[in-house]
Amino acid sequence: MNHIVFIVMDSCRYDSFMAAKTPNIDRLAPASKRYSYASWTAPSHHAFAMGLLPHTSPKEVFASEVYKDEFAQWRERTGYADIAFKEFLPDLSLPKVLRNIGYRTVAKVSMPVLNKNTLIARDFDDYKLMKNHNDFAGMIDEMEFPDEPHYYFLNLGETHYPYMLTGDNLPHISGLHGALKTMDESPATAGKQGFDPGQMEMLRLQQIKCVEYIDGQIGRLMEMTPPNTHFIVTADHGELFGEDGYFGHGPIMHEKCFEVPFVEGRLA
Ligand SMILES: [Zn+2]
Repeated sequence: MNHIVFIVMDSCRYDSFMAAKTPNIDRLAPASKRYSYASWTAPSHHAFAMGLLPHTSPKEVFASEVYKDEFAQWRERTGYADIAFKEFLPDLSLPKVLRNIGYRTVAKVSMPVLNKNTLIARDFDDYKLMKNHNDFAGMIDEMEFPDEPHYYFLNLGETHYPYMLTGDNLPHISGLHGALKTMDESPATAGKQGFDPGQMEMLRLQQIKCVEYIDGQIGRLMEMTPPNTHFIVTADHGELFGEDGYFGHGPIMHEKCFEVPFVEGRLA
């Protein structure tokens, strides 16, 4: 069976990915535009934990058929012929299905909302919230690829706000995200801060740089992986950079919050 490395670039919006130079990820397959099932981290990762990847928004088909096809694609990803929708019942848990056929299931995550006490962690053999928000390099250092097939699920913080910006180079934007919003702010003023276009553009360009950094690290990871390693590279949701009065993601109904990049394949 194949090793599987499932990489989620948290908050990486589709067009940020497409604007970045990604020579390593490009070795797998061309990137396509897909859509997240949710606009923020926790529910989107719940879909991943079920085995559902970002969708293509197909027309004239019942959702149940799309889900069945999606579950069946784990045959090709794993190289194990007997995976179908019924193997996912009743738990609807991808790591449980993979464990049942002999995988060691390992998750390394960056977002505290995905910590090991959450439902997302339930069926992994090994589940770790990284100490540092930006530690894809540290995740790679901990990975190994023995004969036993491994399923690695990696949630990367580098592409999430503040996009590896720290201290002096971080623009101060009041009320950017829920965590930063002051609690005494009245609802009447909370929605009327406006966003500085220059700062928004700087943040957008920084997210593109973070994708390029991640691609470099994926190149390092590719040097460690056996040829039978199936990679999935995608995002859990997009990000708004001031469009239509929005910044970030979460309680936002906007196309850019749902568009995500999607690449999967094995090195030729
Ligand atoms: Zn997220």
